Amino acid sequence: MEDVIILGTGCAGLTAAIYTGRAQLNPLVLEGSQPGGQLTTTSEVENFPGFPEGIDGYTMMDNLRKQAARFGARYEHAKVDKIELEGDVKKLYAGDKVYEAKTVIVATGARPRLLGIPGEKEMFGGKGVTTCATCDGAFYRDMDVVVVGGGDSAAEEALFLTRFCSKVTLIHRRDELRASQIMADRATSHPKIEMAWNAAPTEVLADEQGFTRAVVVKDTITGEEREIPCKGAFIAIGHIPNTDFVEGVLDRDGDGYIIPEAGSQVKTKHEGFFAAGDCVDHVYRQAITAAGMGCQAAIEAERWLAEQ
Ligand code: NAP
Repeated sequence: MEDVIILGTGCAGLTAAIYTGRAQLNPLVLEGSQPGGQLTTTSEVENFPGFPEGIDGYTMMDNLRKQAARFGARYEHAKVDKIELEGDVKKLYAGDKVYEAKTVIVATGARPRLLGIPGEKEMFGGKGVTTCATCDGAFYRDMDVVVVGGGDSAAEEALFLTRFCSKVTLIHRRDELRASQIMADRATSHPKIEMAWNAAPTEVLADEQGFTRAVVVKDTITGEEREIPCKGAFIAIGHIPNTDFVEGVLDRDGDGYIIPEAGSQVKTKHEGFFAAGDCVDHVYRQAITAAGMGCQAAIEAERWLAEQ
């Protein structure tokens, strides 16, 4: 049986791995379908302390991974789809494989939310609809694209896309961005970015070959619909926590975020079971806060094991 199993290799999971590794707990880190988590699809991380010039997300996560490995963290690919608690033993099921641990740190992060409008699913991935400008932006060189959303992600994606695309229309359902002031100012003042305010997307339209040709938006004030021609539609409307597998074992709120025990950010109602990062935090959702929670969860796991 493992002392500590950590689920997830984003900022929270890898920070927990560094701390439990340094505590000689020999953590086993299970990584799912997106090793390195959401930051691997971010262009530039400008606000993580210690990097005055910024750092690209992939390099940062690769560094964290190597840092944890240096202290003994072991990595395995496994998508855990069910957990069970039997006394002090935590069982994690990943297909045919069963892992057993004394403590578990869930740091499974979140995945992009989609609009759920006609055409979106049909053209997703390769036919013009995507959630990752860093991954797909270069395919839209000299083309017109849209970004949907009004938060920091949407502003960041739109700014990134100006490197390649001829025009970026930022579609937002209100008349004010939710993004931080600095990101909002950069986006709204960029000569290649056009704002479509009070515009709610209702459909993605295909050309004759089945590729994206326009997004239909409805004016939220007048109700009028219009088409915004584009070859690419980048959806950046927030995230859904990856917590389905804890159903019935850990408490979750209506949006799927794991609910921590009162008075703690990372303890759950089950002894020895901790949660950290974007699967539990719906307020801050930053790389640095996820890392901080990973650290807290690791220290709590270490203390709990010492008490046993
Ligand atoms: P977010 O802040 O939750 O923003 C989601 C945006 O999508 C909102 O503007 C929301 O509109 C819009 N939206 C949601 N559902 C929609 C729908 N069905 N149709 C149309 N629009 C919809 O998410 P985020 O931008 O991904 O950011 C998440 C967190 O990460 C935030 O804390 C953010 O600060 C952080 N972040 C930071 C950076 C950075 O600092 N460089 C970069 C990326 C993300 P409303 O505004 O009307 O609700």
